[in-house]
Amino acid sequence: MAGKEFNIPGRFFIDTDECVICGDCEHLAPEFFGFSDKANSYAVVKQPATLEEIQKMEGIVKSGCPVDCIYDDRQENGGQEINQGVPSGPILPSLSGRISLNPPKQI
Ligand code: SF4
Repeated sequence: MAGKEFNIPGRFFIDTDECVICGDCEHLAPEFFGFSDKANSYAVVKQPATLEEIQKMEGIVKSGCPVDCIYDDRQENGGQEINQGVPSGPILPSLSGRISLNPPKQI
């Protein structure tokens, strides 16, 4: 995806090529979003770390951007992150569906 490189690496990112610089994300969560001079766009400046922060960020991904250019790698890649080696929070059942560590045995 274009425009991803200006974000702090991690699960959430803004496509800086799509951002219309409205500032809504920073208004909602100034701890996670800020203006990037390099990108001439808003970008993720801090990844959420706690469950509460992750839930806040997931809400912003869902409905916080008027042009839907804030992304969650887990949604973009069928539940798999592509930012290997970058720590992130737990998968939340509300967005990821039912999660089982012990899937039922095939008969
Ligand atoms: S809410 Fe969306 S369009 Fe507005 S500044 Fe943030 S990323 Fe850009």
